[in-house]
Amino acid sequence: MARVVSSEAVSDTEPQACRPITLWGNPVLRRRAEPVTVFDASVQRLVDELFETMYAIDSGVGLAANQIGELQRVFVFDCRDGLVAHVVNPVVEILDSDLQDGGEGCLSLPGIGTDTVRALRARVTGQDAKGNDISYEGEGLRARAFQHETDHLDGKLYIDLQPVRSRKKMEKEMRSSEWFGMHSIDPRSDLYREVQGFDDEDFDKADEPIE
Ligand SMILES: [Zn+2]
Repeated sequence: MARVVSSEAVSDTEPQACRPITLWGNPVLRRRAEPVTVFDASVQRLVDELFETMYAIDSGVGLAANQIGELQRVFVFDCRDGLVAHVVNPVVEILDSDLQDGGEGCLSLPGIGTDTVRALRARVTGQDAKGNDISYEGEGLRARAFQHETDHLDGKLYIDLQPVRSRKKMEKEMRSSEWFGMHSIDPRSDLYREVQGFDDEDFDKADEPIE
């Protein structure tokens, strides 16, 4: 089994596992995740598994707990800008009225993506796996990830932000996908890599961040 491990994501005691990624159509993606109230070892293990799963995907920059089937308010991110972190019970604050419009894709909606308007700058506050208060600020992709991942924990997806016609088109495309009807998929599988375009030399989607 291939393992990709981030030094910051590894705990000394528990083995981490790459978990299947939940796919569009799985009701867990439409449910609101529960706040974490007990900060025991299971929270750190969930964080480790989120990192292990996110790093199994070439261009994964963020992953929320319900994307591996856990309805707890936790997400991890690494936008390849030097900050690798996790947030428990995240609350996002938009820092000003500036917007960004750029490509957005989701690991749970493989094979599609579209320009999505988001706030340009955001702050996320919450706790770490031990219950300590934390706060991070971001601009551009990192701010986009804060908004995308926190939306996941509220049962929202980026396709919800698209005009109706565009959203219907994306839903139609997903319904005709090979993976449609599966509740989850191993992100290391050939099917997942193929759908995401990671092995297509002419169309290198692997460079586009997905979350
Ligand atoms: Zn997503």
